[in-house]
Amino acid sequence: MFERRLQAVRKHLETTGLDALLVSHLPHVRYLTGFSGSNGLCLVTLSKQYFFTDNRYREQSKSEIDGFEITVTSETLSQAARKRGVLNGRKRVGFESQYVSVSMFENLKKLFPAVMFVSKRMVIEDIAALKEEIEIEAIKQAAAITDKVFKKVLLALKPGIKELDLAAEISYWHQRFGADGDAFESIVASGPRGALPHGRATEKKICRGEFVTLDFGCTFHGYNSDLTRTVAVGKPGARATKIYQTVLQAQCKAIEATRPGVSARALDRVARNHIRQKGFGKYFSHSLGHGLGIEIHEPLRLSAKSKDVVAVGNVFTIEPGIYIKGIGGVRIEDDVVVRDSGCEVITKSPKELIIV
Ligand code: ZN
Ligand code: ZN
Repeated sequence: MFERRLQAVRKHLETTGLDALLVSHLPHVRYLTGFSGSNGLCLVTLSKQYFFTDNRYREQSKSEIDGFEITVTSETLSQAARKRGVLNGRKRVGFESQYVSVSMFENLKKLFPAVMFVSKRMVIEDIAALKEEIEIEAIKQAAAITDKVFKKVLLALKPGIKELDLAAEISYWHQRFGADGDAFESIVASGPRGALPHGRATEKKICRGEFVTLDFGCTFHGYNSDLTRTVAVGKPGARATKIYQTVLQAQCKAIEATRPGVSARALDRVARNHIRQKGFGKYFSHSLGHGLGIEIHEPLRLSAKSKDVVAVGNVFTIEPGIYIKGIGGVRIEDDVVVRDSGCEVITKSPKELIIV
């Protein structure tokens, strides 16, 4: 049982005067219970914890979940919760308003007329932002798989291959190396398409003289990796090389500056200032990075407006880029975990310019 996580939820209930928290967002359900199926709901009260799922998951829920009272139903999960009487006598119950549809909310109000449902955000997110060592291990495993996949992709990357074929290689090798699957749709953007920070793979063939930006990651035991490398196909020109080196230096500087207590905004500034000094300031058009873990994008934001402060156990990406319309782009992304004395880089793929 995930004792620390449940205790943290209960502490939140006590400090905010709630009788229970209803958790419906599946990554959060998994975080609290260990359940990896596609339909589950949990309720944490001050003294107990309940889990609801449907008939398909009778065996799986028993084998994955420990310490919860489990109800398996053929009805909807909220109907089962009513029958089970778990909200009887409870006055204020928090729910994850970001993840509950209007119809589910209406339904809850109808099923539990005596309960006041309180909109809650960032409860599980805040707890999950401070990773336990076992979680960091899972992220490291995901990252190690993605690093191995990068090597395979380099073998396949030749002039004439389509972006989509590289994306297929990524998915294939993720699974071959033991991942649950891709963490998100891989980005493969070559030549001028590299100017699109989120360019999906297309039918376009990769040509000599182009940069190719590959942004991909996998899920392993419910934890995600996220890696970007930009590779040159044939020797790049002087300006392209300068752009690459600028992004690399900005990324290394931000990694060096990462330690507990530093503001996320300051880290963004370190990378942004470097890129600006080199004359490419207006081409770094997104934030520096994002939290990573049970979801590919978690709330910690490394941006110019962020109010987040970096803490031991945070895991996030550092991914500056330069994108020039009509010409192309470069991004380099690593995943880091914050340690007492700085940070540990989890993704290990080489970053010096690779020319294939
Ligand atoms: Zn990425
Ligand atoms: Zn990312």
